[in-house]
Amino acid sequence: MASSCASVPELVADARRLFGQVFEGETPQVAVCAPGRVNLIGEHTDYNQGFVLPMALPLVTVVVGSKISGQDVTVVTATEDVDEPHRVDFSLPSDRSPLCPGTPSWANYVKGVIQHYRVRPLAGFRAVIASSVPLGGGLSSSASLEVAFYTFLQQLKPDDGDKVAKALACQQAEHTHASVPCGIMDQFVSVLGREGHALLIDCRSLEANHIPLADPNLIILITNSNVKHSLTGSEYPTRRKQCEEAARVLGKASLRDATMKDLEGAKDRLDDVTYKRARHVIEEIERTAQAAESLKRGAYKEFGKLMVESHNSLRDLYEVSCSELDELVSAALEVEGVFGSRMTGGGFGGCTVTLVQADSIDRTTRHIKERYNGTLTFYVTTPSEGARVLSTS
Ligand code: ADP
Ligand code: MG
Repeated sequence: MASSCASVPELVADARRLFGQVFEGETPQVAVCAPGRVNLIGEHTDYNQGFVLPMALPLVTVVVGSKISGQDVTVVTATEDVDEPHRVDFSLPSDRSPLCPGTPSWANYVKGVIQHYRVRPLAGFRAVIASSVPLGGGLSSSASLEVAFYTFLQQLKPDDGDKVAKALACQQAEHTHASVPCGIMDQFVSVLGREGHALLIDCRSLEANHIPLADPNLIILITNSNVKHSLTGSEYPTRRKQCEEAARVLGKASLRDATMKDLEGAKDRLDDVTYKRARHVIEEIERTAQAAESLKRGAYKEFGKLMVESHNSLRDLYEVSCSELDELVSAALEVEGVFGSRMTGGGFGGCTVTLVQADSIDRTTRHIKERYNGTLTFYVTTPSEGARVLSTS
């Protein structure tokens, strides 16, 4: 029932094969990968300086390649559903001049990472990308690509190995070259993820704590609705502005510093929508801190209840859910053995995440499939390792 994704060795083999085809029988010297992620709880809290609790996935982006002499770069992606062409050729600037974004748009993630790589100038190289992270599904294929590419560059010209600086450079790449003003969560967990652990990130101090999540009786089920409602594109920036406005009215640097008491005290100075947005963020930050504590105690029922509260708040207060995600969550919660379920990622489509007892997994996927009117993809996952260097063979 669950989707069978290419394993990491299979992806490396695919990428090696394509590398050999494109570069006339050559073998790549380097292979690396970085994971996508799922956020267990703490949605739309990152840009409000709050907490998030993601984990790294077994779904990864692989980069294989080799250094060459000169300044020329060739990058090829094996992923089909990106804009054409799937191969780009460009020259690295010999001085500090910028590597500007252009077309195809997928290559801008690569160019951004090169631009923000902390040890320049770089020599030329050839690389092939292969990935098992679904694109645009809210599992952060973009951060996994950035972090994998950064890890690849580290093999060509090592930096000081500072992991936080690496995640921040990848976030910058997404800001400047993909024009996505994302928070730090995706790149952080793709760099710092650890097998058998979720990662509690304080988006204000950038402190990250690994929380054990390696119970053999527990599964994290991801259900991809395979829908993406393209709204005007202004939903994310509008939410960010509403949060900033609420913080300003409350006299706080960010909503992280605000309590529900502060918010209730300022209710008559906020319009209804701004109040609802702020309430979601303030309560979600608190919920995420509580969820991390529940996880430490193995209190999965408690954790699941917080997941459901998070979903309801995203649906009713932050208004970023959609009927498909609501249906998937309701269906999951009807099954015995399911602790909790919620939408995950930015919203308006993409995936839900469900915490389920291992022996209930089959009946859970069966029930969700029966109840849902559309094509689904299931990923049965456990917390996995962050970015790493692989064997090329
Ligand atoms: P998400 O990060 O949720 O998957 P985004 O819209 O942030 O969705 O990022 C998806 C974009 O990242 C793709 O449209 C593409 O431009 C780029 N991308 C991700 N993975 C790959 C890949 N394997 N090859 C080429 N481009 C990729
Ligand atoms: Mg992304």
